Amino acid sequence: MLFETLAKTGHEEVVYCHNKDAGLKAIIAIHNTVLGPALGGTRMWPYATEQDALNDVLRLSRGMTYKAAVSGLNLGGGKAVIIGDPGQDKSEALFRAFGRFVNSLGGRYITAEDVGIDVNDMEHVFRETEFVTGVHQVHGGSGDPSPFTAYGTLQGLMAALQFKHDNEDVGNYSYAVQGVGHVGMEFVKLLRERGAKVWVTDMNKAAVQRAVDEYGCEAVGLDEIYDVPADVYSPTALGGTINENTIDRIKAKIICGAANNQLATDAIGDELQKRGVLYAPDYAVNAGGLMNVSLEIDGYNRERAMRMMRTIYYNLGRIFEISARDNIPTYKAADHMAEERIEAIGKLRLPHLGVQAPRFQGRSGR
Ligand code: NAD
Repeated sequence: MLFETLAKTGHEEVVYCHNKDAGLKAIIAIHNTVLGPALGGTRMWPYATEQDALNDVLRLSRGMTYKAAVSGLNLGGGKAVIIGDPGQDKSEALFRAFGRFVNSLGGRYITAEDVGIDVNDMEHVFRETEFVTGVHQVHGGSGDPSPFTAYGTLQGLMAALQFKHDNEDVGNYSYAVQGVGHVGMEFVKLLRERGAKVWVTDMNKAAVQRAVDEYGCEAVGLDEIYDVPADVYSPTALGGTINENTIDRIKAKIICGAANNQLATDAIGDELQKRGVLYAPDYAVNAGGLMNVSLEIDGYNRERAMRMMRTIYYNLGRIFEISARDNIPTYKAADHMAEERIEAIGKLRLPHLGVQAPRFQGRSGR
């Protein structure tokens, strides 16, 4: 049954990690290592069933393959999930036990933070394995990726504005930003610095207030964000917000934000294309965080990271060109671009050599 699923999804390896004493139940999924070691965060979540955890890790790890490939990184796609409540079930032993499993994969999988996991948890993982990114700056790590994700999103946005309007001046347009968390707050700051009109919403009232007071955004209700007359809709909170119920309400001609899995279904992506709405594919837009942590592998350098963010502009431009040339929706163009790169680069490699373990440089303190 599992093999049938793996045959469909194309995964290379799924590892069930169990340590009774530490209370660890985790799954690591390595989707594809053709371009390099599989890098992807670890999510801690109280999944209702083990099947839910498996489904999530399979979906997320596959997404990482596409994100890395379309972003021009020498990385494959992987992800891990730990079954547990991040509010109650965390312990040093749990994360060290998990770190040992990561280490046992010899660098085929490199982990990082994801939902429910923070840099302190990663400290424990880092005690057991070097195959972890997003470690604290004191160890030569890259710290919080959110500002980079926001800056990368700005690059994607400029590419979208350029393609749609032949004018990438961010300040000339208005924006509906849904979610002002770690990424969203940085993003609205960048927009406002460029003089743009910005509407914001968030269920966290304090965050909304900060966006209003510090950055001069206009607050609207959670549901009203779909109705504001913005030129660009930026989902920066949850996935699936572009769906049957919202598509008629969103008047923006560009959709560009940092949230993962923005389209509820592929059919919604097809419909956006029909309606002439330019959708900037989420995984290409929000790759800044991944690019940033990837630089930890050969010695983190902030300037290099900022330069790398700029490639998002060119990647998006290429996706829009492919979409126009082949008359396909942008989400399909992004998938094609990722698949073509995996195929082309994969042909250059001798399969029996396998994945070379990354050599982390410039980190200390384990
Ligand atoms: P976060 O948890 O800091 O922020 C999310 C914000 O969305 C919170 O303030 C939350 O209150 C708000 N929110 C939740 N539900 C909402 C709703 N229904 N309406 C309005 N607001 C709502 O998360 P983040 O790190 O800022 O990430 C935001 C999105 O970007 C996520 O989808 C994440 O997967 C994606 N992303 C983040 C990074 C990164 O570097 N942090 C990288 C790639 C993708």
